[in-house]
Amino acid sequence: MLSEVLIPTELKKVDPVFGQLSFNDHEQIVFCQDKDTGLKAIIGIHNTVLGPALGGTRMWNYANEWDALNDVLRLSRGMTYKSAVTGLNLGGGKAVIIGDAKTQKTPELMRRFGEFVNSLGGKYITAEDVGMETSDMDTVREVTPYVTGISEDKGGAGNPSPVTAYGVFMGMKAAAKYRLGSDDLEGKKVLVQGVGHVGASLVDYLSNEGARIYITDINQQRLEELSAKYNAEIVAGDRMFDKELDIYAPCALGATINDETLKAIKASVIAGAANNQLADEKRHGKMLQEKGIAYAPDFLINAGGIINVYAELEGYDRREIMRKTENIYQTTLQIFAHAEEYGITTHEAALNLAQQRIDARKMEAKK
Ligand code: NAD
Repeated sequence: MLSEVLIPTELKKVDPVFGQLSFNDHEQIVFCQDKDTGLKAIIGIHNTVLGPALGGTRMWNYANEWDALNDVLRLSRGMTYKSAVTGLNLGGGKAVIIGDAKTQKTPELMRRFGEFVNSLGGKYITAEDVGMETSDMDTVREVTPYVTGISEDKGGAGNPSPVTAYGVFMGMKAAAKYRLGSDDLEGKKVLVQGVGHVGASLVDYLSNEGARIYITDINQQRLEELSAKYNAEIVAGDRMFDKELDIYAPCALGATINDETLKAIKASVIAGAANNQLADEKRHGKMLQEKGIAYAPDFLINAGGIINVYAELEGYDRREIMRKTENIYQTTLQIFAHAEEYGITTHEAALNLAQQRIDARKMEAKK
């Protein structure tokens, strides 16, 4: 057989797509290539039971194609659960473009990518992610209607970060109510790690509530500006867990809840915006449960951004965006109750709730 000759034995150990570590019953995976523009992209459609698969496009200089494939598989699955648990009628999808966004991204490449998205007839709807700007989504919009996160003057819903911060604030309040007995954060010691777009907006909400705010970031200038504006105490990154805290809000990077940090964190609640906070979903989720730390699942409480872009599809206004985002408070409480009842982690409880919605819709469709 020809393949016996061409494919090295080492690679044959793992089936290239369905055998990938991150493959999780994805519905469709589309490989897109265009020689003229240099486009190499993968669109991952994880699940469309609840609606079209919506998720951003990430442009990244992946070390190899396996990394790109695994990233799109993992990220698209995450979108399914994020939308489902938030109560949106959306499926989960994501796209990756392989390449350096600073040097290889051109309008021609983005338009060609848009044509591939268009060819899926609305099954996948794209949006911004790492390496993308609103202006790139505007370029994609020239060739397909299946794109969100476009400029406000072209009908887009605008900056998602303040909405994301509001959702995180709601999830944090719910977790405080569950763990500390009250959702009033006045006087509560809250550490915000990463005061970028979302973190800074969260600091504003916390300040209005009268919380005692600690901030840490690698951007010293930003720290000083926010410290002056909100009377927040700056904490060095390597000393941040020396403090006795009520709440830790990871708003910078993923995987900040890991073997190392779990030894040091002294907080009752963890609630932040960063994606994939648990380095190992199962193990570290369990360790948090054992330590009695109330963890508000990241993919639930940072869903404000997707609620914001969903408005572009459904045509609802700012008030409705904020109302839907406020609902994260109730869903978070529901998840804590479910986790307690079944003795599982809050992360698992959130996944269960999402899966229940998907299964119920499937049953309805069969009737
Ligand atoms: P951002 O880039 O504006 O802010 C990130 C901040 O973290 C920056 O100020 C950066 O200097 C800081 N940072 C980077 N490395 C750090 C480190 N090692 N220690 C401390 N600080 C560090 O990003 P953002 O839009 O505010 O998003 C923050 C997080 O929330 C990301 O994980 C993002 O994926 C997630 N998220 C954002 C949105 C949104 O609407 N923007 C939606 C969902 C999830």
